[in-house]
Amino acid sequence: MKIAIIKELAEGERRVAGTPETVKKFKALGADVAVESGAGLTASVADADYAAAGAVLGDRAATVAGADIILGVQAADPASLSGAKPGAWVAAGFNPFGERARVDAYAAAGFEALAMEFMPRITRAQSMDILSSQSNLSGYKAVLDAAAEYGKAFPMMMTAAGTVSAAKVFIMGVGVAGLQAIATARRLGAQVSATDVRSATREQIESLGAKPIFVESVKGIEGEGSGGYATEMSEEYQKAQAELVSGHIAKQDIVITTALIPGRAAPRLISDGQIASMKPGSVIVDLAVEQGGNVEGAVAGEVVERHGVKIVGHRNVPSRLAADTSALFSRNLYNFLSAFWDKEKNAPVLDEEIGNAIRLTQGGKVVNERLLG
Ligand code: NAD
Repeated sequence: MKIAIIKELAEGERRVAGTPETVKKFKALGADVAVESGAGLTASVADADYAAAGAVLGDRAATVAGADIILGVQAADPASLSGAKPGAWVAAGFNPFGERARVDAYAAAGFEALAMEFMPRITRAQSMDILSSQSNLSGYKAVLDAAAEYGKAFPMMMTAAGTVSAAKVFIMGVGVAGLQAIATARRLGAQVSATDVRSATREQIESLGAKPIFVESVKGIEGEGSGGYATEMSEEYQKAQAELVSGHIAKQDIVITTALIPGRAAPRLISDGQIASMKPGSVIVDLAVEQGGNVEGAVAGEVVERHGVKIVGHRNVPSRLAADTSALFSRNLYNFLSAFWDKEKNAPVLDEEIGNAIRLTQGGKVVNERLLG
């Protein structure tokens, strides 16, 4: 059993899908591990550290040659994986809805593509969930990015020269990223409020010491919603939400938006008119910018200014904390493969529930229900 950890080729991607820690653990399971030279450099991992953990270093061709399983952060062009075993598994982030043509290319190349972002939200798969591990650090980084762009302090400060007032921070979308953003902004001393469409988040917001801002006139999503995910809201709800948010946003210094709907464009939560109502010098961070954006006028990969308000639209926020996010991503992959490891076969054997959820291609065909349905 040969596991290959390859260097990321996507522009701006600094993460890596394996660390010396996970190399050691895969070796302990009985696998051979090959790592492409330089794969960890942008995540602060030197080749020598992989070698010391027992990996064989080499160029791309040598790394994938004869591999049974290839690990990546963002799925590579399958043409760059030739030489792997026929039917080899490729476990990575596939962005299956956004990059459908690549899924077809994986089928045509005969690989078994395993989309780690399709991991079901069940208790036993929590430790394998890349969306959670990466969103968590994105939520943290979003607050730091906001603080860096903001020309004032976050905490209230009493100085001999007078008092500096606390920043008002509003978090829209309280999933994994939003909860971490609330906690981080609180740690920095801001006055924090937050909103979501799922009623279960109200208690979570309060338990972190923030103020919940909720639409009361139209019903939102009861409890957690299906699989923990939100759906598109009715027009009536969207109108009520816009009215509620308008009054609140005008008083905020920082707004961080994280709202996503799987398989769809991100919901638009902030209009240009609402941005114009904010004080000059305020900052908005749109964590959903690559999925279409929650904020009107946000531009992926840029910090733009509208009506004196900075709108931050960094791409690939997890990659901005590459050492930590790589460590967590790599553990997600190890937790996944080791949970299914069959000692006699010296290979993982997936069960139906998780296998069917994440497998995109098999036997030359696209097989995933979410893509076919
Ligand atoms: P997500 O990234 O899909 O979306 C972010 C947040 O935006 C969600 O809370 C969503 O409700 C919210 N949102 C969507 N539309 C909105 C709108 N119009 N206005 C305001 N908010 C809107 O969500 P996520 O971070 O992946 O987490 C969703 C839930 O799933 C959480 O409760 C989380 O704890 C749970 N979860 C469970 C597991 C598990 O059990 N294995 C793993 C991960 C997450």
